[in-house]
Amino acid sequence: MDALARLIAEVEARADSLATGRDWPCHAGCDGCCRRLAVIPALTGAEWALLAPVFAALPADRRADIRARALALADHPAGALVSCPFLDGEAGLCQVYAGRPAACRSYGFYRGARHDAFCGLVEAALPALEADGPLLFGNQDALDARLDALGGRVDLVAWFRDGPGAAG
Ligand code: SF4
Ligand code: SF4
Repeated sequence: MDALARLIAEVEARADSLATGRDWPCHAGCDGCCRRLAVIPALTGAEWALLAPVFAALPADRRADIRARALALADHPAGALVSCPFLDGEAGLCQVYAGRPAACRSYGFYRGARHDAFCGLVEAALPALEADGPLLFGNQDALDARLDALGGRVDLVAWFRDGPGAAG
């Protein structure tokens, strides 16, 4: 198992251990986190390699729509929240779910120093979720450091403009 696969397996085990048996707010169709990204996503090469075949398997019209939305982010005002181009906004579902980035898998289950690293819906549900005692969230800062060690990041705009996403 490679480093990214190991990291993802750990994140998913953490998410399962937190959500199983609890009324956890994350569910299919809850897409607030995907609509309000703090920055344009920048993924490691290993994450792009995981996502690319899932993107390539989408119908051509969906790929074209995602690419257009990603490229439009080049003009996105600095500091404004970003709606992820991979989101199917009508269904509230990720169109590359099986290959989604690590941060999408950890969000809601990991906490970090940055306030935007944690979901407000989960925060609001904490009193009920922790009724039987404090929960052990993952460490988002440590996760980010491990991701950074996997290599340089390429942001969404660059991947679609200059990288494999430009090919169609
Ligand atoms: S992290 Fe928050 S917004 Fe995202 S799915 Fe979970 S509850 Fe919904
Ligand atoms: S890649 Fe998928 S899960 Fe991640 S922010 Fe975009 S739509 Fe949401």
